[in-house]
Amino acid sequence: MNACPKKAIHMEPDRQGFLYPVINTVKCVDCGLCKQSCQIGKARAVQNEEPSNCFGVKNSDCIRAVSSSGGVFTALLDKFIIGGSAAVGAVFDSEMNVVHKTANTRKECDAFRGSKYVQSNMGTIYKEVADTLSSGQQLLFSGTPCQVAGLKEYIKAHRIDEARLLTVDLVCHGAPSPKIWADYISAIEKKYHSDVETYTFRDKSVGWRGYHVRVGLANGDSIAQNNLTQSFAVIFGKEVMLRPSCFYCPYASMERCGDVTIGDFWGIEGIDKDFSDNKGISMVLVNTPKGEKMFSAIRPELNVKEYPSDVLTQPNLRKPTDFSLDYDAFWNDYDSKGYLYIAKKYGGYGIFRKFRYYKNAVKRKLMK
Ligand SMILES: Cc1cc2nc3c(=O)[nH]c(=O)nc-3n(C[C@H](O)[C@H](O)[C@H](O)COP(=O)(O)OP(=O)(O)OC[C@H]3O[C@@H](n4cnc5c(N)ncnc54)[C@H](O)[C@@H]3O)c2cc1C
Repeated sequence: MNACPKKAIHMEPDRQGFLYPVINTVKCVDCGLCKQSCQIGKARAVQNEEPSNCFGVKNSDCIRAVSSSGGVFTALLDKFIIGGSAAVGAVFDSEMNVVHKTANTRKECDAFRGSKYVQSNMGTIYKEVADTLSSGQQLLFSGTPCQVAGLKEYIKAHRIDEARLLTVDLVCHGAPSPKIWADYISAIEKKYHSDVETYTFRDKSVGWRGYHVRVGLANGDSIAQNNLTQSFAVIFGKEVMLRPSCFYCPYASMERCGDVTIGDFWGIEGIDKDFSDNKGISMVLVNTPKGEKMFSAIRPELNVKEYPSDVLTQPNLRKPTDFSLDYDAFWNDYDSKGYLYIAKKYGGYGIFRKFRYYKNAVKRKLMK
């Protein structure tokens, strides 16, 4: 859609709420720019060599408290967004949709903080990035590896110089459905009779490990996790609401497409007990000379430990997420019965959870 000079392509959601391009064949002049810009089948062209080392990174405690892991992304922004550079990342829009957006000030970049476990809508961001780079501005782009790869192919096809672009890709488990996300937000709004204004997927007031959510309502209430608010994260963990292509992701590998890769340093407690804590530790891979330069610049301000990269146990650095055998049943249930039904059946909400609770209570009694 971004690439088409004739505006002959638009994006349409399918039944799962994922966007796909649709070509208006009347407007199409067969110039081929869309195919040249598309990354499908070209993963190898943007992948770098596997790095031999990885880094564990802790930013200050107050930055870590508001970041998903160790807050390395904030450190990258702090260094990069000086002197008129721009940055692109994922934010919530006013309706709680997840979208990619450009920020031109350090303050605007704060909205990028925090993982939003929903596929973000890229809108016209590739075009905006290309325009920014062409104007001579430096730009930091962050996103899932497929989004970084898409940008790289777009830029290549449009013959734009990459020298002023720094790319940060995330270790990615897969992207959940924006349609289910919207239904989930509506379910919360209905239950609490108030709009959702803020949302944190990784509320650290109960520690970094696990996915604890917090919801901020327009009426001023702040809701910590309960079995409705937590249901989206529980379903995310079951691998039933990811985009189908995530199960065949060619970027789920140690050969990364970004200059720098960031993720959660899961498993750090078994690798380096002294460095491990429950406030969040980022895992960083440095994949290119540009990434190396950037990481060297932020390193003195952070608490950093270096390890051989083969210590990493992150499954999505080696292979895509396994396809769930419940996938089709889940979508049939969702299509026919809606969010609250799947929240109960797959997300631990309501009577099914209560039933499990009473069953376990009876079991405990019998075992005494
Ligand atoms: C869909 C998804 C799946 C993930 N899966 C894993 C995983 O399996 N293993 C793992 O180690 N880490 C995973 N992460 C990354 C992880 O959650 C943290 O984002 C990462 O550790 C960086 O933490 P931080 O504290 O430095 O950054 P934060 O300050 O929390 O920065 C968040 C960064 O993520 C970007 N971002 C947030 N939401 C999205 C989105 N929907 N799409 C694209 N970019 C987004 C922002 O633009 C920003 O760059 C995933 C992130 C997403 C969005």
